Amino acid sequence: MTDNWKNSAACASIGGDVWFPEAAKSPRDAIRICNTCLVKTMCLVAGMEETAGIWGGTLPAERARMRDEPTSNRKAWPSLIVSMNARGLPAKEIAAHIGCNERTVFRVLKAEREKTA
Ligand code: SF4
Repeated sequence: MTDNWKNSAACASIGGDVWFPEAAKSPRDAIRICNTCLVKTMCLVAGMEETAGIWGGTLPAERARMRDEPTSNRKAWPSLIVSMNARGLPAKEIAAHIGCNERTVFRVLKAEREKTA
């Protein structure tokens, strides 16, 4: 993946401190900007392994949960897939993180949609 998406980042003209708030500061303003960002998904994919800062509107702890969920436990897959999908992660990336195939991701999302229909 190239870094071209960064040219369209909503944060491109804003100081980096907002995306690396100290523990005492709220990340709310940064996340609000992320939620309007056209390249939020690309940012999340790029920052998935990052242990600091806000990437794609997520905090380090949220990304850690996505990474560290016991993916060998298939019972955990639906909630993990739904959570990653809600964050805008593409099916291919979700499948790669979980260790399943894309078809499984689509099947789980379809089943979840049917539950709420
Ligand atoms: S999602 Fe947030 S951190 Fe990522 S590029 Fe957009 S504004 Fe910047």
